[in-house]
Amino acid sequence: RAKDLGKNNCQFYTSEMNAHIEEKLTMLEGLRCALDEGQFRLLYQPKVDLRDGSVFGVEALVRWDHPQHGVIGPDRFIPLAEESGMIIALGDWVLRTACLQNQAWQRAGLAPLRVSVNVSPRQFEESGLVQRVAQALQDSGMAPEWLELEVTEGVIMRDLQQAVAKMAEVRAMGVSLSIDDFGTGYSSLSALKSFPISTLKIDKSFVRDLGRSSGDEAIASSIIGLAHRLKLRVIAEGVETEQQRSFLRDNGCDEMQGYLFSRPVSPEQLLTLLPPPVTAAPVLRRLRVVT
Ligand code: C2E
Ligand code: MG
Ligand code: MG
Ligand code: MG
Repeated sequence: RAKDLGKNNCQFYTSEMNAHIEEKLTMLEGLRCALDEGQFRLLYQPKVDLRDGSVFGVEALVRWDHPQHGVIGPDRFIPLAEESGMIIALGDWVLRTACLQNQAWQRAGLAPLRVSVNVSPRQFEESGLVQRVAQALQDSGMAPEWLELEVTEGVIMRDLQQAVAKMAEVRAMGVSLSIDDFGTGYSSLSALKSFPISTLKIDKSFVRDLGRSSGDEAIASSIIGLAHRLKLRVIAEGVETEQQRSFLRDNGCDEMQGYLFSRPVSPEQLLTLLPPPVTAAPVLRRLRVVT
């Protein structure tokens, strides 16, 4: 009987695994042509100053418009893109598109925004990263001060010395760096002080229960204090409620991002959330959407 059970378990497991592998292969095939077919697009989520409520920047977040499955979020394909190496080409597209879009907004007379782009581990480690960033800036005409790269602690801790050297190269170009999902990774506090970064981003898992969990409140306010002692700015992600916002503001957090202010939106929708262009020239008002 035990033997039967074992066999059944095994069969069950195998067919599950096959289905899983098959799904992965199909997805990988789709991912390969998605870039050529123009199936990716970027949404932009506003980053808001907690003191005056102004939008000073946006984070670019990729979406895949799959011809059969509809919109697919990055959590479902970025890991596969990483594993397969596709992330290099995809990441390059994201970088270039974000820079082109931001420069188009600036040309149209909008108050300049800083655009943040997520960079995943393999992308960060690739030897061509710095050159790709330089090329995206050059081709778009956007000044480096308007670009920020978001990296996670995991990226940095894989090879600390090399990562710090690469961050310094990016920084030397005039591009800013921030640590995404801070508090969920494994970076040591002693390593943190050697990172040439400008911002810490409090992970949304610590934001969710602000006002309900004294543990999370302690963590959030400690991260804010730590950031400020290190002369860094601090932003909270995943801010959904007024209660979370007031806790963060009262505890000195500089910036926030989350559904409370806006979900990630299309370039067209973003314009409705911003003050209108300052220039009077009608030709400059024609706002170009970059895809
Ligand atoms: P992330 O960089 O930490 O981005 C924050 C995620 O939280 C985004 O999910 C965003 O839509 C979501 N979010 C924003 N506000 C709220 C809120 O108030 N509540 C909740 N519950 N969620 C909120 P998204 O767009 O699904 O992206 C997931 C992750 O995928 C990102 O996490 C990032 O790590 C990765 N990713 C997204 N775009 C790119 C990209 O272009 N390149 C790379 N390498 N990774 C990307
Ligand atoms: Mg991010
Ligand atoms: Mg994050
Ligand atoms: Mg995240």
